[in-house]
Order: sequence, then C-alpha cells, then structure tokens
Amino acid sequence: MEVLNRRYGDTRARLRAAFERSIIVNDCLLYPGEDGKYTTIRNEHGKPETLHRISYRFNKGDIPKDKIVRHTCDHTRCWRPSHLILGTHLSNAQDKMERGRDIVCIGENHKLSKLTDDQVDEIRRLAPTMMRKDLAAKFGVSYDTMYTIVTYKTRRKRAND
Ligand SMILES: [Zn+2]
Repeated sequence: MEVLNRRYGDTRARLRAAFERSIIVNDCLLYPGEDGKYTTIRNEHGKPETLHRISYRFNKGDIPKDKIVRHTCDHTRCWRPSHLILGTHLSNAQDKMERGRDIVCIGENHKLSKLTDDQVDEIRRLAPTMMRKDLAAKFGVSYDTMYTIVTYKTRRKRAND
C-alpha cells in the first residue's frame, strides 16, 4: 500500500506541476503547447502517457481497453476532468466532422474570451504574487487587458452589482 501511495504521490506532484503551468481559458484547463497536439507526461509507472488520460484516470476512474478519453470541449490540450468523457475512435471522428474542427480556428475565438466576474476577482487576488505577463498568459488574455483589470481601469464593478 505504501509503495502504491508513493507511486501515485509522484504522479499527483506531476499533475500539480502541470496545473501550475496550465492556463484557464473559457473554463478549459490548457497545458501550454501547440493546438491539436496532445501533452504527454510520465505516469505512475514511469511511462509516457497523455495528460488528459492521466487526468481522467486520477479523477474519474479506469479507462477500459477498447475506449479512448474524449474531450467534450474539443481542445486537445485541455485536461479538466469535467471536460473528459469515455468514447470510441469512431465517435471521436464523427464529432470532429460534425463540429468542423478542421475548418474553424477555435484558438482564435478563445482569445476573444471575456473574463467572468469571478475570474476578475481571482486575477486581482493573484496580482500581488505573479508577474502580469504570467497572469495574462494564465487567463488567456492580453497584457493590456490584464493591466487594465489589475489597475481597475476596467471592470470596476461586478456585472451583477
Ligand atoms: Zn476543456
């Protein structure tokens, strides 16, 4: 049991490190990298495995041999457990066609994402502890946007106030 815990502990530490490096865009938890590519880290057996699969196993359970882990959000770099479901290769291919992923550039749309009030609060809470550049990257907005938020030039009031 102790050995098992230690093994899982290492992977937990890797997942935590991955979380530190990831950015949150429109609720997706995105590991930095190229769109359309999967991120691979070492799993508890020391073997390379995609981050979203490890995230699924750790948070939701085992992956049957004939199943793959799919993204409901269509972001290959996303590893938020609530965006991951089990599926088959066939359903994945069908989804891809239906959503026209190959034509629509999702990344561009995401750059225009609007921050929620909670995210704005979170940014101001983190501002004293992080570089603005890093903060902007973490929330997927431009440096200028970050600057205006942190300095209260915009979003002075919550939308619901
Ligand atoms: Zn997602």
